[in-house]
Amino acid sequence: MDPGRRTRLFREVNDRMYELLASAEPDLPGEFLCECGRECGHRVELLPAAFATLRETGEVVRSPGCRRLRLPRRRQEPVDGVPALN
Ligand SMILES: [Zn+2]
Repeated sequence: MDPGRRTRLFREVNDRMYELLASAEPDLPGEFLCECGRECGHRVELLPAAFATLRETGEVVRSPGCRRLRLPRRRQEPVDGVPALN
């Protein structure tokens, strides 16, 4: 599966997850799939409201580890106290 296709698929899954959570447990965080497009297998814990905000701003749901990986290599700096997600 190519990254664009995976991202679209995961977006659909996340949208369903959001609908479910928002109607059933709006105050509890849910585990959303990382939409980075790679086979990272990461989950992102978000409150339904936080997910809705991401959708409204057009941002992609990404785990902290995947957000970091998208930065150019030379600008990556080690962050103390942040566990590796791989
Ligand atoms: Zn990812």
